[in-house]
Amino acid sequence: MQALPRVEPVSIAIAGSPQRFAVHRVYCVGRNYADHAKEMGASGREPPFFFFKPSDTLFSVADGATAEWPYPSLTQDLHHEVELVVAIGRGGRDIPVERAHEHIWGYAVGLDMTRRDLQSAMKKESKPWCIGKGFDFGAPIGPLVPIETSGELTSGAITLKVNDVVRQQGDLSDLIWSINEVIAHVSKAWELKPGDLIFTGTPAGVGAVGRGDVLVAEAAKLGGFSLKVV
Ligand code: MN
Repeated sequence: MQALPRVEPVSIAIAGSPQRFAVHRVYCVGRNYADHAKEMGASGREPPFFFFKPSDTLFSVADGATAEWPYPSLTQDLHHEVELVVAIGRGGRDIPVERAHEHIWGYAVGLDMTRRDLQSAMKKESKPWCIGKGFDFGAPIGPLVPIETSGELTSGAITLKVNDVVRQQGDLSDLIWSINEVIAHVSKAWELKPGDLIFTGTPAGVGAVGRGDVLVAEAAKLGGFSLKVV
């Protein structure tokens, strides 16, 4: 009997290293900065909510490269959401907030790209948003920086520029739920495993991009990466 062809495991680039980080799941947090929650119609410190992107939708960009990134199908309103991504090195369940940092392998800057028109249409009908969030190449991510290099991140700027104009600018200290609180929350609902990534939410200023635009995503202590939409 013919076995199915082997699927390559998903991995992402590590800053300054030829090694790669093998990815398990990709969790994402919705509305985790007050100003973005407001622009999406929420208020205050509602409990965090989560969705997934398939891990093979990651689009890993190595140090210093400007990668060509394909504009996705079906959308007329493709939005950028720049986010701090935390990578889990040690798994666990019911992780207390005070110990969450012990489970962190490192951090990266990522883009939770969103087919906003499709997401909005699904929301209106109370249907799942997968088509708006979980599309091919929908999770660009810069090189992963080990926590030994960056230190624990609780503050610092996170920025997205489009064609050299700042579109999104936030600070990690403005997260409604901190990175460690997010880890604690996720680990109550799912058992975290080594290789899990969590996109921790985007600050205000989400907006549309089109073919030919150049996106530069950066965060303090992590550097960043750039994409050209083609
Ligand atoms: Mn997001």
